[in-house]
Amino acid sequence: MRFGPIELYKKLAKTNCGDCGQPSCLAFATQVVGFGQELRDCPHLNEATLDEVARTIAEQRDKGIFVKKDNHKITREHLREKIGNHDFEAIAPGLGLKYTTRNGMDALEIPYFDRTVTMSRTGIVVGETEKFDPWDEVLLYNYIFFSGSKPLSGEWVGLESFPNSLPKRVALEEGCHKRIHQYFAGARPELEIACQRLGGIPVLNGHNGDLAFKFTPLPRMPLLLLFWDEDREEGFEAQAKILFDATALDYLDLEGLTFVAEKLADKLTSI
Ligand code: SF4
Repeated sequence: MRFGPIELYKKLAKTNCGDCGQPSCLAFATQVVGFGQELRDCPHLNEATLDEVARTIAEQRDKGIFVKKDNHKITREHLREKIGNHDFEAIAPGLGLKYTTRNGMDALEIPYFDRTVTMSRTGIVVGETEKFDPWDEVLLYNYIFFSGSKPLSGEWVGLESFPNSLPKRVALEEGCHKRIHQYFAGARPELEIACQRLGGIPVLNGHNGDLAFKFTPLPRMPLLLLFWDEDREEGFEAQAKILFDATALDYLDLEGLTFVAEKLADKLTSI
């Protein structure tokens, strides 16, 4: 059996509860089948259904069945439209951004990891020879769309502290924590160098990791990387964990938090 959005919808709880981050079960089914959202993001499926359906959908994706390849473009256009009425000048201070103009239009200067990009109402501008991942664009549009303004709390929390985060915790573990600790196990000095090259600031007190570095991928989205190196004699494996400021959900959704942490892992493991 093939699973198109309707076939998958029939397997869902049909309560439209929103725990998956989508406004309805049908929207979720569409995202899973066509756009790569994980079936586990719905916490109301039993394991047997999950196994059976997830396997079939994975096989479909491998063959390109029902897959919409321009997902990022659709999401990006949707978000660009949504921020159309945002007052850039008014939201800039709350987001830690600089308001500017470009070709006579409103624009925002956005420091993003180790670069600064300019977002106008017509798009994101980077240097002519620079490449910019379309999913990074989606993240930046989301940051503007949320228009958070809460002052940072200075309290570091794990993703598990945020409501309905269970499905994303698995993604964070696989896409970030595991990648960092596997790559840098037994190589703490190398991790330290990679952190410094990426502009991380060592945090010396108050954390129990062997190493703690603070990063600021976006002005109101600080991340704290904790790392414990392996101890072979004690049989202790390396571990890594990303913490977020307690206000993080004012600035991005869970998907965005996971993405930005995975991006950090990408950059650290490719320096
Ligand atoms: S979490 Fe599951 S039941 Fe709730 S809206 Fe999403 S798909 Fe439907």
